[in-house]
Amino acid sequence: MKEDMHNRDTAIWPPVDPVKAGLSGRCPRCGEGRLFSGFLTVGKGCGVCGLDYGFADAGDGPAVFVILIIGFIVVGLALWMEVSLNPPLVVHFLIWIPLAVALCLTALRLMKGVLITLQYRNKAAEGRLGGDR
Ligand SMILES: [Zn+2]
Repeated sequence: MKEDMHNRDTAIWPPVDPVKAGLSGRCPRCGEGRLFSGFLTVGKGCGVCGLDYGFADAGDGPAVFVILIIGFIVVGLALWMEVSLNPPLVVHFLIWIPLAVALCLTALRLMKGVLITLQYRNKAAEGRLGGDR
């Protein structure tokens, strides 16, 4: 039954590029409505097509990607600066802590949007035992 619903969805709503919709924080079905109600809070549903966002659960996924990617960038830059410019320690604190926080928050929102739109697109959900499919 859930499968039928999804097929009906794609018949009415033409496929949306999940990466594009996710990066701009848009609804995974229509690509118009807002996905987030707060900075990182997913809304209850789409205001344009009425899609219920109850399925959306990115879990720890976005945080893992953000930690690995931003950590790599920031630590790499900090090491480079230390080796090539050898600035006082306080300069490192003043540059890298605010930069890491800003980059992480930005990337977290983008990554969460993309993972939720991909989740919708691929119909990913928790595994269930003995389902009635
Ligand atoms: Zn929508």
